[in-house]
Amino acid sequence: MNKQKKGILFLLTGPSGVGKKTIWQPLINLPELKLVFSVSCTTRNKRPNEIEGVDYFFKTKEEFEKMIKNNGLLEYATYANNYYGTPKSFVDQVRKEGKNILLELEPQGGLNIIKMFKENKDSNFVSIFIAPENIDVLKERLLERSTESIDVITQRIKQAEWEIQQATAYQHMIINKTGCQKETTDTLYNIIIDAIRKNKSK
Ligand code: 5GP
Repeated sequence: MNKQKKGILFLLTGPSGVGKKTIWQPLINLPELKLVFSVSCTTRNKRPNEIEGVDYFFKTKEEFEKMIKNNGLLEYATYANNYYGTPKSFVDQVRKEGKNILLELEPQGGLNIIKMFKENKDSNFVSIFIAPENIDVLKERLLERSTESIDVITQRIKQAEWEIQQATAYQHMIINKTGCQKETTDTLYNIIIDAIRKNKSK
């Protein structure tokens, strides 16, 4: 019997407001990509349009800290005064079944994942950084989205300056130009399908 090939982990990172979710979402149901989104845990408040277990698993600080203590997270970070983290067992299970997993993280978590895969010498890993054209575009998007208070938006913009500098640690960088979202999604599709083909021929 053929041994099931382990799926690829795709790491997608970029500053808040760059449009990560809008870029990857059209790719989730494409059968050729066998791509599963890793739903994260967070302690931030649920937004009105968000669904528990689809957008996030919403946790209290105590619940989240228990997961950290029990080694239940692949990575986690504190971002804008809240915890965000990736449940470990789900990622392992999806990859074991030969499906590919997509992690959408802020850059601190992204760097932790890059370090982890380097140390483990796991080559079934692709890192992609989504960058904005400039900081002003991010600010405009966050204000337009209006899901956070002005204080939180200011905090996110401040953090974005450091975040954008982390792009060089990634295998791929895509600039999400205003009005060119389809182009960005197509570029991401090509990166993913290329890695899948390479993995098949290994
Ligand atoms: P938001 O509050 O806007 O949903 O997310 C804030 C930031 O946290 C985004 O950049 C998002 O990609 C990131 N994020 C979401 N889930 C995780 C996670 O599990 N770990 C880390 N490190 N960042 C995450």
